[in-house]
Amino acid sequence: RKSVVRITTGSQALDELLGGGIETLCITEAFGEFRSGKTQLAHTLCVSTQLPIHMHGGNGKVAYIDTEGTFRPERIVPIAERFGMDANAVLDNIIYARAYTYEHQYNLLLGLAAKMAEEPFRLLIVDSVIALFRVDFSGRGELAERQQKLAQMLSRLTKIAEEFNVAVYITNQVIADPGGGMFISDPKKPAGGHVLAHAATIRLMLRKGKGEQRVCKIFDAPNLPEGEHVFQVTSGGIMD
Ligand code: ATP
Ligand code: MG
Repeated sequence: RKSVVRITTGSQALDELLGGGIETLCITEAFGEFRSGKTQLAHTLCVSTQLPIHMHGGNGKVAYIDTEGTFRPERIVPIAERFGMDANAVLDNIIYARAYTYEHQYNLLLGLAAKMAEEPFRLLIVDSVIALFRVDFSGRGELAERQQKLAQMLSRLTKIAEEFNVAVYITNQVIADPGGGMFISDPKKPAGGHVLAHAATIRLMLRKGKGEQRVCKIFDAPNLPEGEHVFQVTSGGIMD
């Protein structure tokens, strides 16, 4: 039996919200408006995953699938320094791939699974999990097919999480929700419908606060504490 590993987000408040950090063996989703910190959290996790277990890391390598071209290796440097790690060594342990279509994204996952069978990975990032689907299935009447392909992709991610004891961190966008929603002044909801809702074990809802502050709430998890937790986006990554 594999035992769950919890990887620090860099923020104690966020870690507490998550019961210690983001977990292996399942999918953690972050959704929220632009600049709410989804990609910055991904960068921080790239580093913290490589910390030893006793420092709340995962002692493992990281795979990063980037669909929007927003990974910045130079951002890793100050984050690694903040955790007292060698930036070049940290960068060497991040396997990076840019995906250009949803099929490409799926095929990259197949290749990564082969790599994970050989080397100790502890984190897989897909930022964003849905962007290419929204481009590749933008036509009228394509929604059902999109959701079917999205479900396939997500079930592959779940399989990887369970087979290799990896934490899967995916980001998602918000879409307009004229019917209501949680942003009272500007109603929005996570994209991906029930397919994504079903696949993600933990759904983090991020929004901007004052200045560098960001606010995180757990979305739709009856067994986790309610409430908002504030963190900051800094040069050294996510912090309290
Ligand atoms: P999108 O939906 O556009 O992908 P996102 O949720 O991924 O948005 P991020 O890219 O994670 O958003 O957050 C961008 C924000 O992070 C910037 O607006 C800035 O406030 C902050 N940020 C980025 N780099 C730094 C840095 N070096 N120092 C401090 N803050 C930074
Ligand atoms: Mg982003």
